[in-house]
Amino acid sequence: MIGEFDIIERFFKRQPKRSDVVMGIGDDAALVTPPENCHLVVTCDTLVEGVHFFPDMPANALGYKALAVSLSDLAAMGAEPRWVSLAITLPCADTTWLSSFCEGFFELAEYFNVTLIGGDTTRGPLSVTVTAHGVLPHDRALLRGGAKAGDSVYVTGNLGASGLALLQLQGELKLPDSEFELVLNRHYYPQPRVLTGYGLRDVANSCIDISDGLMADLGHLLVSSGCGAQLELDNLPINESVMTALSKPQAMQLALTAGEDYELCFTVPPVNKGALDVALSHCGISFTCIGQLNTQAGQIQMKLDGEPFVVQQSGWDHFSSLST
Ligand code: ADP
Ligand code: MG
Repeated sequence: MIGEFDIIERFFKRQPKRSDVVMGIGDDAALVTPPENCHLVVTCDTLVEGVHFFPDMPANALGYKALAVSLSDLAAMGAEPRWVSLAITLPCADTTWLSSFCEGFFELAEYFNVTLIGGDTTRGPLSVTVTAHGVLPHDRALLRGGAKAGDSVYVTGNLGASGLALLQLQGELKLPDSEFELVLNRHYYPQPRVLTGYGLRDVANSCIDISDGLMADLGHLLVSSGCGAQLELDNLPINESVMTALSKPQAMQLALTAGEDYELCFTVPPVNKGALDVALSHCGISFTCIGQLNTQAGQIQMKLDGEPFVVQQSGWDHFSSLST
């Protein structure tokens, strides 16, 4: 039977040390050296089995996603991810499971040059907490509260794929196998928009990542900023599989309310529209203007085909049950 310290040595202590890590895994705490004139940006997220994911979620996907959701928070601040710690609670020391978990975790960590610098390993019901640490030049953070009336509202990528996969995992629908595979991949392996976050530092007034659904997360941004929004839903970038699988109003509902897409929602003042195109041109991620901000604090008004559109939250309650 493999013990706690063997697990740490064999599975978690495997990355070369970055030059800004003075002490990584192996002492009572880690020591890192943040660059001068930078904020340290810190965020933490927990995924609990049965609450945030189903027991049959592949270990590889869990390892990847646990890190991805924290990196997405750093991306939404415009921060550069550097160091992470991992608190993991395991029901048993299953080395096959751990190998697969670490494969997913370190694949993403290495992609963004992020180092695992410490953590905690305990026994109990499966849960994973990742604390991500990033850096950001002073006073360049993308905050929720910086939006202004007159800003345009944008989202990256497209919306609804993760929510569609979740509907099938919950037994609410049955997609053709190839379609399910596509959207399940988006549900399990969301891509944190880190490079987009860097690009937005100079041009956006505000930013948030879409973890709980566009309506909910844009709502948070509007409350923080004291603004309202008028959205043109004809422009909403809805995932193609969602458009194929559902009626137009259902697809719209899902794209507006389902969580876990981990795209960015941000606002840009009119003077920066050209600069935005330049700033994001190298990110390889699409972005779409979906409306404008106004002074009606906290309110979201929507139009589809020239008519007012109202979100029917109630018909879709079941798919919010696993949201973070
Ligand atoms: P302590 O008893 O001093 O809290 P631990 O015995 O829990 O330390 O951990 C020993 C070392 O291993 C520490 O450096 C800790 O940060 C690291 N560590 C423990 N669990 C993990 C993990 N899941 N991932 C990365 N590092 C870990
Ligand atoms: Mg100690």
